[in-house]
Amino acid sequence: MRNVKSSSLLTLVAASIVALSACLVPGELRAQERGVHRYARIAVNGRVVYAQVEGSQVRELDGDLFNAPRPTERVHDLAEVKLLAPVTPSKVIAVGRNFESHLQGRPRPPEPGLFAKFPSSIVGPGDDIIRPEGATNLHYEGELVLVIGRRAHQVSREDALSYVFGVTAGNDLSERDWQANDLQWFRAKASDTFSPLGPIIVTGVDPDDLLIETRVNGELRQSERSSDLIYDVAEIISYVTRYVTLEPGDVIYTGTPQTTMPLDDGDVVDIEVEHVGVLRNTVRSGS
Ligand code: MG
Repeated sequence: MRNVKSSSLLTLVAASIVALSACLVPGELRAQERGVHRYARIAVNGRVVYAQVEGSQVRELDGDLFNAPRPTERVHDLAEVKLLAPVTPSKVIAVGRNFESHLQGRPRPPEPGLFAKFPSSIVGPGDDIIRPEGATNLHYEGELVLVIGRRAHQVSREDALSYVFGVTAGNDLSERDWQANDLQWFRAKASDTFSPLGPIIVTGVDPDDLLIETRVNGELRQSERSSDLIYDVAEIISYVTRYVTLEPGDVIYTGTPQTTMPLDDGDVVDIEVEHVGVLRNTVRSGS
């Protein structure tokens, strides 16, 4: 009888493991079915091209990244190419105060709080963040960034996710004193180098459930999942496109979690988004 009981217990344990595995596996399968691909924009042999990341190699693509690009036979080791910011958007839109953990007692915004950053503020992985003269309170903001895949105008919440090409990581650098005192966030949020982006775009993952982490000099500073966004990805896209038409390659920084701290010259900032990898930039003085 005891043997039967222990055998039943073993069966139960085994069944639990199988059930747990079943819980984990379908997510992966679904992601594969939806087409998980990794794309980079690279500089190689004096040219700038889009490429598909295949393990430790990159395969150059011909044509438009957002319209059935064609794989070529030109393949390079990742170590031999320079990764650039993965897109060159016409618009960089950002959402403020989009995590409860970032509000710090402030009220929830009644609508998504949008602002604009200049495309000229984008830098790629490995590039320096240049701290302009007088920027004495410059903070990191680790964020999930959406990359739009097709023209989006007055998109419904139900259709919104089909306009997302993929996701990447971003750092929404913010000079807090300028943010508090200037008429607009012109320099506080959009000075040159204030929008690091990359290192790659990943497609076919659920943008509403990705871990976002920030490390400064290796020390964990922010860690939260995009499932905690106050306005989720569909709501953001639907809201933005009521007012602004989005084009392929446009990007939306979706908001930063928790608290932020000032950066010093020489600080190494890593923004990591699950499945995307690590976006690393170093702060340098611009004066
Ligand atoms: Mg932000």
